[in-house]
Amino acid sequence: MAASPPPAGIVTRFAPSPTGYLHLGHAHSALIAWRAAREAGGRFLLRIEDIDRTRCRPEFAEALLEDLAWLGLDWDGPVRVQSAHFDDYRAVLDGLSARGLLYPCFCTRADIAREVAAIGAAPHGPEGALYPGTCRRLSADERAARIVSGAPYALRLDMAAALSAVGTPLFFEERGEGRLRCDPARFGDVVLARKDTPASYHLCVTHDDALQGVTLVTRGEDLKPATELHRLLQALMGWPAPAYRHHALMLGPDGKRLAKRDGAVALRALRAAGRSAAEIRALAGG
Ligand code: GLU
Repeated sequence: MAASPPPAGIVTRFAPSPTGYLHLGHAHSALIAWRAAREAGGRFLLRIEDIDRTRCRPEFAEALLEDLAWLGLDWDGPVRVQSAHFDDYRAVLDGLSARGLLYPCFCTRADIAREVAAIGAAPHGPEGALYPGTCRRLSADERAARIVSGAPYALRLDMAAALSAVGTPLFFEERGEGRLRCDPARFGDVVLARKDTPASYHLCVTHDDALQGVTLVTRGEDLKPATELHRLLQALMGWPAPAYRHHALMLGPDGKRLAKRDGAVALRALRAAGRSAAEIRALAGG
């Protein structure tokens, strides 16, 4: 039976965080997105997710552009660099705040760890122990007083309020699996902004996928659980839901997931060792 024609107008993207040099696992991921777009006559976008200024470095961003071009990948339109768009993310946070869906959280990590330990069997989600909700219970006066005093704070999503604002069960389309039901409550009151990182990955990635018209998100399966939260943010904001394809992660010879800290598999190290782009594409499954 002939394969069904690819969907029209497909838009994919590769969205690395410049926290180190790209390695074979990134090449694998980038090639999947690039090929999905190119085979369908669609568009392939490149986005640099450098919101976390404590971990990202401009030299890694520059290096990744060079590595991808060397690999033979081309992308459509300008590269979106998230750190140039803090105002966009701020506007989303302001909108959610105005709807009463965010609250300031003054707890330090140590405060939270203490509370969680005191609870004993505290519920856990995909990102660890769920926030026990301490600051959700502060009065408006107490919040205002702490903000005026200059206490640093994060902004958390009031998960119960967010779920009731959406009101209906959520699903996402996983290519090859169909419609999967989401349970964003598993994340609890997630942080959407911190003092040192003014917008979270979850917020920026969903905002940008919507803004850039991405129709198919291809990324590693480690991010599949996060998609349940992403669907909630999309529903809250009225953003369209792309389809998803979470691919298996490339493993090293030790059976462990390839990591950026593993310099031996950095694309530029392989290139310096004389490997050609065609060889790397073959190694990376392309
Ligand atoms: N920036 C994320 C990372 O490098 C990937 C985000 C995504 O593909 O949704 O892990």
